[in-house]
Amino acid sequence: MRIYFDHAATTPVDAEVVNAMTEYFDKKFGNASSLHSFGMEAREALEKSREKVAKLINADSDEIIFTGSGTESDNLAIKGIAYRFGEGHIITSGIEHPAVMETCRYLEKKGFDVTYIPVDEYGSVMPDKVEAAIRKDTILISIMHANNEIGTIEPVEEIGKIARRHGILFHTDAVQSVGKIPVDVKKMNVDMLSISSHKIYGPKGVGALYVRRGVRLEPILHGGGHERGLRSSTENVAGIVGLAKACEIAMNRMEKDAAHLKKLRDKIIREVLNIEESYLTGHPSNRLPHHASFYFRGIEGESLILLLNQKGIAASTGSACSSKKLQASHVLLATGIKPEDAHGSLRVTLGRENTEEEVDYFLEVLPRIVEKLREISPLWRK
Ligand SMILES: *Cc1c(COP(=O)(O)O)cnc(C)c1O
Repeated sequence: MRIYFDHAATTPVDAEVVNAMTEYFDKKFGNASSLHSFGMEAREALEKSREKVAKLINADSDEIIFTGSGTESDNLAIKGIAYRFGEGHIITSGIEHPAVMETCRYLEKKGFDVTYIPVDEYGSVMPDKVEAAIRKDTILISIMHANNEIGTIEPVEEIGKIARRHGILFHTDAVQSVGKIPVDVKKMNVDMLSISSHKIYGPKGVGALYVRRGVRLEPILHGGGHERGLRSSTENVAGIVGLAKACEIAMNRMEKDAAHLKKLRDKIIREVLNIEESYLTGHPSNRLPHHASFYFRGIEGESLILLLNQKGIAASTGSACSSKKLQASHVLLATGIKPEDAHGSLRVTLGRENTEEEVDYFLEVLPRIVEKLREISPLWRK
């Protein structure tokens, strides 16, 4: 038996998505730029897909740029604005995904100024702190919609209002929230929003960037001028069709899935917190419906993941990227958790295929593993 509880890292591709993609590999394989019927077929699929992605976030289809990933969408949004202005100040948070954080770090090396807004103990970015950081030369605010490691949903609507009021462009990384909770680019007052296909039951290596009409970006890829000149590359039609199908399915199932996932999530949170010296990370209620995250004092997250894996359960510690390094997660540290505690973190992210039986099995196995690890831990004293 194998149980997958790591949906914030990636999701299985929905069977309907696979089905929708198939004919675009062999039968309708045309290059969307070609003038013949093969090209027209591909072009048509591309434009229909654009409409479906736009619909999920209440955008217009001409505001959607297809990219090669969530990471690329983040890079295009941030570098695209930075390169257009050539200089200036960027505001972001201290808990962003590396795709945003490392892009900002890179721009700092290139002469841009960056302010990293701190978060509170729940990982929430305070809108008034964002406002206080605004300067005359601020060109962009980039704050994520929902955090991948701790599940906290950020007050993006309010931050968007502040950005508008000051006439500053606002980007949000919504890779974790799109398809899971309502995302409406108009209500959120965003100018740019990043999406990744593989976090919502679509294929890997496909993303999208919403760019509000009138917002001008410098491209980061130059070539044939695809995607309104913003992303040259022959379009990945099959992948894009997959992303669009995944968006369509997410839209139809969102409420039902969220209710199911919340129920399982709340059971996990309730039961796990019964374990001695266990703590919830992220916001207790204002969090993604499928996301539960904790730390356990006196144990190593890596060992916990390995023992859970031996029992057939796939979960994660910190983020998938930071768990390869032995550094404590920058997100957990930003919420004020001590480094030695941050090492004992566990993230359980559920998906639509998970069942209550799987959750019950996990809840039976976990306390014994934690106990076992503490018995051999030099960090754990009774
Ligand atoms: C996964 C993730 C990304 C990166 O998306 P990829 O498509 O894997 O490049 C960016 N931001 C957040 C919040 C993510 O969870």
